[in-house]
Amino acid sequence: MKYVIIGNGIIALSSAFRLLQKCGSQDEIVIVGPADRVGSATLAAAAMQNSFAEIGAHSLKSDEDFFHFELSHKATREWPAFERDLIAAAGENLPKDCSQCEIYTGGCFEQGTYVINNTATDELDDKNFKAILQALEDFNEQHMLVDPADIPNYYPSQHKRATQAVYIPNEGWLNPRLVLEKLDNILANDDRVTVIDAKVTHLEAEGGQIKHVVTEGGECVSGDEYLLAAGAPTQSILENSKLDIETIKMFYGIGVSLEIVSPGYPHTKCIRTPNRGGACGVYTVPFYLGPGKSKEHIVIGASNYLSPEPVYHGRLISIEHLMRAATEEINGHFYNAQLVRTNVGWRPTSQDTFPLIGRSSLRNLTIATGTKRDGFHMSPVLSEVIADMLLHNPVDTRFSYFHPERELIKNVDRETGIDIVVESLMSEQYQHDYRPSNIRMNQQVRNTYRQDIEALHDKVGAVDWGIPPELVNMYRRGFAKVK
Ligand SMILES: Cc1cc2nc3c(=O)[nH]c(=O)nc-3n(C[C@H](O)[C@H](O)[C@H](O)COP(=O)(O)OP(=O)(O)OC[C@H]3O[C@@H](n4cnc5c(N)ncnc54)[C@H](O)[C@@H]3O)c2cc1C
Repeated sequence: MKYVIIGNGIIALSSAFRLLQKCGSQDEIVIVGPADRVGSATLAAAAMQNSFAEIGAHSLKSDEDFFHFELSHKATREWPAFERDLIAAAGENLPKDCSQCEIYTGGCFEQGTYVINNTATDELDDKNFKAILQALEDFNEQHMLVDPADIPNYYPSQHKRATQAVYIPNEGWLNPRLVLEKLDNILANDDRVTVIDAKVTHLEAEGGQIKHVVTEGGECVSGDEYLLAAGAPTQSILENSKLDIETIKMFYGIGVSLEIVSPGYPHTKCIRTPNRGGACGVYTVPFYLGPGKSKEHIVIGASNYLSPEPVYHGRLISIEHLMRAATEEINGHFYNAQLVRTNVGWRPTSQDTFPLIGRSSLRNLTIATGTKRDGFHMSPVLSEVIADMLLHNPVDTRFSYFHPERELIKNVDRETGIDIVVESLMSEQYQHDYRPSNIRMNQQVRNTYRQDIEALHDKVGAVDWGIPPELVNMYRRGFAKVK
């Protein structure tokens, strides 16, 4: 069999790796993706492995959400073995920064996340923090309530200090650049794999199946089975292809993260807030560079706004906000840190915010994207399932929730949906220094938001379901539609 994989981010490459493990010596894999990886979400990721720390007050309320959490929780447990498999498979071809692997002594893969609850924004933080604690208890996950003053390298400004914090020892992070380099090396050194440095413009179908993919240079690449896993640009590839299938629309979740070097104040653990309206709150994660190299590099994340098209540079407001929030809420000594790199990545975000993973109704096309803000973390689990799909092996039937041609998942009723959007918008304003002059003004702002969001629900015909907060602007501007 010949497998053609479109894309070269964590989802495409981890799936190729699993496929190599499962298929025979005569099989071939062709990977088509641009070497420069512009807009790669994978390279912009921190990359945290958070399941519980990602929980919010409205999580785990539907079967789809519960299944998603189950996969995320499984991924946290699978990463250590997955990383060991990658190291073993790379053998002599480990990236040079991994050549004296320090994995057991604080290398690229480490564990331990502090979630802080401060008063820098509004009450949504408190609700989400409470939901995290509840889930940790309910699922019997190891955790410790800690005095925020005992968190290593935590020196917030006085008016933004946390009042409570929880330590989750099993939730860690990796350097995504090293992991991707490792996968690149493994795949490039396997005789069964061919890597083509090119962008796919479209796919051509005939007789109910894909005939070949076409690159920007006009080259046609054909195979028996195809995996389309090109992150957010998957949408434009599908639109250009004019295939006879209707998939859930994808958007670009433009996200900025910053790499800094913080002289004298290195992190040893991840420190983050709960999720906040519009994005994932503020986090700071150690960024491992290699044996003997500075341990003072830290990734600060992350902003998010949805766009129907790619955006190549970070917005000033996002960069300013991240630098200030990290300095005020995590470590005042970052005032002296240096900005090493601004990452801009496109989170593949679907119209209902759930992933698109499954065999399409075209006989030989599997689609895998839409992992939004935790695709890196989920990759050990998703790659296994994607490889099985390509091999026509059975998978958990609940993956039908994420079928690329499903109906939109509408798992929140209208009233709750409107409450969630208003809550999220208020949180967003508080993150950007909104200070009402009195309580009545605050109520007025809330009411104005509510009327506006109710009107938007009426306009798009959301009579019995709620628009996800991330999607509000896409519905407002007519880019997201309901049939
Ligand atoms: C700022 C930020 C922080 C994040 N933090 C985390 C985190 O801490 N933990 C976590 O788990 N997740 C995190 N995420 C989310 C995570 O990065 C994504 O869910 C995941 O990387 C998606 O992987 P992917 O392979 O689908 O997409 P991508 O990584 O975007 O890869 C898509 C690839 O396809 C290639 N491509 C594009 N167009 C074409 C084409 N036409 N033809 C062929 N190839 C093409 C691109 O070059 C790219 O390499 C973060 C994302 C961002 C933006």
